[in-house]
Amino acid sequence: MATNSLPPSPIAPTVDFSAEGVQHGFLRLPYSRDESAWGSVMIPICVIRNGRGPTALLTGGNHGDEYEGPVALYDLARTLQPDQVSGTVIIVPAMNYPAFVAGTRTSPIDKGNLNRSFPGRPDGTVTQKIADYFQRELLPRADLVLDFHSGGKTLDFLPFAAAHILADKALERKAFAAVEAFSAPWSVKMLEIDAVGMYDTAAEEMGKIFVTTELGGGGTARAETVRIAKRGVLNVLRHASIVKGPVDRQVTRWLDMPSDDCFSFAEVDGLLEPMIDLGGEIAKGATIARVHPVGRTGQAPHEIKSKMAGLLAARHFPGLVQAGDCVSVVAAVVSGAQKGG
Ligand code: CA
Repeated sequence: MATNSLPPSPIAPTVDFSAEGVQHGFLRLPYSRDESAWGSVMIPICVIRNGRGPTALLTGGNHGDEYEGPVALYDLARTLQPDQVSGTVIIVPAMNYPAFVAGTRTSPIDKGNLNRSFPGRPDGTVTQKIADYFQRELLPRADLVLDFHSGGKTLDFLPFAAAHILADKALERKAFAAVEAFSAPWSVKMLEIDAVGMYDTAAEEMGKIFVTTELGGGGTARAETVRIAKRGVLNVLRHASIVKGPVDRQVTRWLDMPSDDCFSFAEVDGLLEPMIDLGGEIAKGATIARVHPVGRTGQAPHEIKSKMAGLLAARHFPGLVQAGDCVSVVAAVVSGAQKGG
């Protein structure tokens, strides 16, 4: 890719990535509009640097309605001290800041889904400009990337950390080791079905260790999932020897999402009747949920059956579904509970 021929990013950081100590600043993205001539989008960023060592890039708010990552990362940015760090920690708790302040998955400015916008464009939409800045300025600085996700307003997940099955097996091993160190109750090996345009793919193609999460959802955060996020980010930093101290390892169970048989989609609109809750075991062919037509009584529900055996890892959150909505994700159990060592 001829990135050399691209114009420079219009985003100006107010932080110096080579300066020692703690800086709280912004990625300032010029966005001139009716309400603000010569105005800007101000994306918060924190850089904590102490001498030589690896660099971790920690991100939340890639989708604007997912909250465990932002809660953990605003908190970490406020509390992590340089003398705890060997190397550099870059924290962007709300990557797609316009989406985050609107409480929406995609940007209200351009409807951009940041996690489908990579590698982005310096001369594109606001969302494409954010992607381009991460692609060409932030990702190249990182050795390790942790990008927090949750289910957002329309999905709810078992709390898990995950990494992708990769062609580069050495990189895959490092990523799975970081996932295990995160110590969520569940750890997932994901085969990405639709990887084009993802931040994940951009990082992995640069050879970066990339860890992601799905920690809950429904457009809010819970006390338990916030605790998992806070412990997980510190654990990953300790695992990478960027923060001093032992990894606080907890029991985690590994799951596999091996194919698109994991996913079920509604084929009719209607009222969702869950037949199994998150974490529940399910046999191949068993009914995961029923969708009741609501326009009149006396109609048989549409049954959604599992294409594989496993357990329910994610479900549609709102009580009503539309045709095409993702109703469920089933994952295969690949091992018993284990405490990583
Ligand atoms: Ca997400």
